[in-house]
Amino acid sequence: MINDDFVPMTLPRQKSIALIAHDNKKQELIAWCEEHKHILERHFLCGTGTTAKMISDKTGLPIRGFNSGPLGGDQQIGARITDGKIDMVIFFSDPLSAQPHDPDVKALLRIVQVYDIPMANNRATADFLISSPLMEKEYTHYIINFSKNISERARTL
Ligand code: PGA
Repeated sequence: MINDDFVPMTLPRQKSIALIAHDNKKQELIAWCEEHKHILERHFLCGTGTTAKMISDKTGLPIRGFNSGPLGGDQQIGARITDGKIDMVIFFSDPLSAQPHDPDVKALLRIVQVYDIPMANNRATADFLISSPLMEKEYTHYIINFSKNISERARTL
């Protein structure tokens, strides 16, 4: 990048991965975690409350649980992304059921885009992500220079 509108950020080798599944997708995510356990156990895992507990109970993987999604868990994960504390999101969302916390889900998708975080919304994408050579490497990407953005907004608005 040739200007300072963007700044480099590095995702570490050992990544913090957030795991979320809507109710109809929880068994599918548990099966996916079991299948890729040998990779997932080399990273730090967290997730929305119910998903995290079910994955931990069924696979034995250590995983930090936040609040349940409908009670703010997606927002907690979004906030940690803005703090640079989550490097990847695996979110098996349900395209066929209305969710009470749809605004929170949309907010999470948006913040993932703003911070250029790799995210899988379905099993095939999750398979591609988890088998990427970048899983075992540092990865530098460029995100908006937020302090410059604030200075310019404060100066011009
Ligand atoms: P849950 O939340 O893991 O607590 O069920 C997931 C969600 O629906 O966002």
